Amino acid sequence: MTTHAPDTIAAALPAPGLSTLALHGDRPHADVLGEGHVPVVSPLVQSVNFHQPQGTGDGLKYTRYGNTPNAEIVQRRLARLERAEDALVLSSGMGATACALLALLRPGDHLVSSAWIYGGTHKLFTQEFAALGIEVTFVDPMHSRGWRQALRPSTRAVFVESPVNPTTRVLDLRPLAKLTREIGLALVVDSTFASPVNFRPLEHGADVVIHSATKYLNGHHDVLSGAVMGAAPFIEEVRQKMAVWGQAPDPFACWLLERGLKTLDVRVRRQNENALALAQWCEQHPAIGRVHYPGLASHPDHALATEILDGFGGMMAIELAGGGAAADRFVRALRVFAHAPSLGGVDSLLSEPRFSSHAHMTSEARAAIGIPDGFLRVSVGIENVEDLIADVEQALGA
Ligand SMILES: *Cc1c(COP(=O)(O)O)cnc(C)c1O
Repeated sequence: MTTHAPDTIAAALPAPGLSTLALHGDRPHADVLGEGHVPVVSPLVQSVNFHQPQGTGDGLKYTRYGNTPNAEIVQRRLARLERAEDALVLSSGMGATACALLALLRPGDHLVSSAWIYGGTHKLFTQEFAALGIEVTFVDPMHSRGWRQALRPSTRAVFVESPVNPTTRVLDLRPLAKLTREIGLALVVDSTFASPVNFRPLEHGADVVIHSATKYLNGHHDVLSGAVMGAAPFIEEVRQKMAVWGQAPDPFACWLLERGLKTLDVRVRRQNENALALAQWCEQHPAIGRVHYPGLASHPDHALATEILDGFGGMMAIELAGGGAAADRFVRALRVFAHAPSLGGVDSLLSEPRFSSHAHMTSEARAAIGIPDGFLRVSVGIENVEDLIADVEQALGA
């Protein structure tokens, strides 16, 4: 019996687009039912272990090794989307960051990091890495000479996040990549906010890309997972860290992530459109003091964002002119936006850094880094944008 699944997409199409890759990756799936009944959707193989060939230790498959069928399918898919040689899926974004950096750094090594990073990553660097004898220096990413000044003979890697949470500042990786290449350091980029639809760091000189796949890659607020992409020998080292630190994902999480990826391109494009329209509307409203969105001409990195991003993203922030009290009333009155942490999914969410990522700081300290009370982070979903605008408008009037 014949099937019509081509051997690989690459055999037919030399340069498939991102949506085609996200949907089809490297077909076909195994002929699991026999007689050519190749399923259109990847089968979920919810088995931790597999019958082992006798007389050899080669080819051992086990979920914690990251080499079982659903992990391998989604790993190949993610590598193609980021234009990387290889990818590894882990059980969370934090697991991805931790295992990627544990593969790069040894006791006595030094890491230079942007000061503008995810709170969990900051804790990992300051609390856990210090205990492992790995020193971290934080640099203001907008101070271009700061990177070189922070370097030491023991520096092994540079870590950045872009676009930045929650201010949506956009970093230019190219000068940084020039520096890390010159000295032989690894440039590691947490690209969670961009997704490969809007930005692919490897094309700008990065060596390693990290994602909280919990966010845009899966996109439905129903899977916790992370991913690391880069050169195959490096990904193999991360895999070995994952195997002993135990950050492997369950097959069902991989299956759901593969399903989420199929709509990545259409989801993110819609989020880009919705966020731009909402940001433009918010900028005209007198109750909103400031709007942070890279797609607005008023954003400090608008020109750079226009040059390097394929889309401005679904993340934005607004500052209510009435401060914290206005934010209390506004959040209580919202009906479409959920007041919830996390981001990047199809449902629109809104959160207050003063009660989440920046709760550990005083009001004055937050204001000093550009997050005054009344600052609201918005993760724009795929609802009809008229309804998102109407919800914000009625909540502002409350
Ligand atoms: C959420 C997030 C993380 C952590 O990811 P988890 O999947 O929650 O472990 C890391 N970096 C960024 C930028 C994030 O938004």
